[in-house]
Amino acid sequence: MTDTPHSELMDLAASASPDGQEEAVASGRVLLIEDEPGIVDFVRRGLEAEGFAVEAALDGVEGEQAALTRSFDAIILDLMLPGRDGLEILASVRRSTPSVPVIVLTARGELEDRVAGLDAGAVDYLVKPFSLAELVARVRAQLRVIAQASASTLHGEDIEVDLLTRKVRRAGNPVQLSTTEFELLVYLVRHQGRVVSREQILGSVWGYEHDPATNVVDVYVGYLRRKLGRPGDPAPIFTVRAVGYRLGSAT
Ligand code: CA
Repeated sequence: MTDTPHSELMDLAASASPDGQEEAVASGRVLLIEDEPGIVDFVRRGLEAEGFAVEAALDGVEGEQAALTRSFDAIILDLMLPGRDGLEILASVRRSTPSVPVIVLTARGELEDRVAGLDAGAVDYLVKPFSLAELVARVRAQLRVIAQASASTLHGEDIEVDLLTRKVRRAGNPVQLSTTEFELLVYLVRHQGRVVSREQILGSVWGYEHDPATNVVDVYVGYLRRKLGRPGDPAPIFTVRAVGYRLGSAT
């Protein structure tokens, strides 16, 4: 849909609140970059009903400019856009504001697309068509991740991680972890409910100089599962076939 009427763009821009007025909105500011007016309408209404302030851009160029020049708590990004490709926007957002969560909308759930996006730094995916409940849950989950990033204690399922004392508990019982196991668990808890690829884990926990062909991630996930698991109650770290791992149930 490349022939979006300009008047619609103007209407959307005019209805977006000016900067600074959303401070009181606890749910946060969301930038939606999507060229299908029907989806824009649906998402905007749904998120605003949940208390989010939504700004919409109907083409890639305008969307990228908004993402790079104004501040948002989350960005919802369609991949197929007129003007500028979604993955290119994703890459420039990752360079300029790496802490802002991006939820990518894809037309199909093609695995290669998903992995390519994960490698480019997307934090989450929604495959069209999606429900509003699903979208709101994803946005909330992303904002929780941001809130957790500044906390000193992380919680994931029944696991508690104290970042200052580096003590770990599962259901209140202490668990002794090595330094690498601890860093891996912190990464998984920070991304709980979402699938993280082996490459993402490797890059964040071991550093990018590591050989990408290594199976060290799988080995350490195995160690973590063994230490966190109890008889009849396995650790809540799930394998997502061909992609990676997820701590906790999917959000
Ligand atoms: Ca599109």
